[in-house]
Amino acid sequence: MKFIHNISKSLDKSTSKDTNINKKNNITNLLDFIYPPRCIACHELLLPFKEQFICPDCTEVLTPIPAPFCVCGRPKRECGTCGPHNFTQNTGAFFYSGICQDIIYKFKYAKKPFMAKGMAILMSQTIDKSVFENIDCIIPVPIHKNRMRKRGFNQAHLLAKHLSYLVFVPVAKNALIRTKDTKPLANFTPAHRQNTLANAFTADKKQLYDKRILLIDDIYTTGSTLNACAKVLYENGATAVSCATFSIVNNEKTK
Ligand SMILES: [Zn+2]
Ligand SMILES: [Zn+2]
Repeated sequence: MKFIHNISKSLDKSTSKDTNINKKNNITNLLDFIYPPRCIACHELLLPFKEQFICPDCTEVLTPIPAPFCVCGRPKRECGTCGPHNFTQNTGAFFYSGICQDIIYKFKYAKKPFMAKGMAILMSQTIDKSVFENIDCIIPVPIHKNRMRKRGFNQAHLLAKHLSYLVFVPVAKNALIRTKDTKPLANFTPAHRQNTLANAFTADKKQLYDKRILLIDDIYTTGSTLNACAKVLYENGATAVSCATFSIVNNEKTK
């Protein structure tokens, strides 16, 4: 119940400023009334009018990543040897396993963008506050326009937008753009991933000059994408680049 209460409190804060969002909430409330929402993991009925996607029991099962962290965001005792990385630190909320895998799959591939708000709230509650301090802007990892057309939304952008409301840091819109369409790279060697992602992004110098940036993504697998993004951000004037992700894959093949 604490989770539901916190979500409600955070939503109150994040929606009060924006009339368009309030209108959208009214429509969502009506739909919640007609079709009561269910937990995306166990399909239990959820309380309506809260824009949740997961029940308190399933939320309890999510595994937060324990500190101290390696630069990649995994626990130091389980990694500690990866890199080098172009960003200063990644911090992830949950291990990508069990219900967390369900969440990412349903959000991204079963196309449920409404989940972004609840996921951002979970990120803001789980990740240490200091991660969202001393930054000037939030930038989502961009997707290529072809993938955007196919999926209809950029999952990282939705997370960044909602996190922005929660942590009071603006999103730098279109400051980083993906110009090269690449296939998933997790199963390739680090050198192949690096070559493929070289020149995959362009950035807007004007928005980045002298800025401390927090990159946002839904999942950290090998870190190649975040590394490529961070490199371009530094080349275009950023003074610091750190990252925050909803989940982190914790397995050997990513080293
Ligand atoms: Zn559930
Ligand atoms: Zn590591």
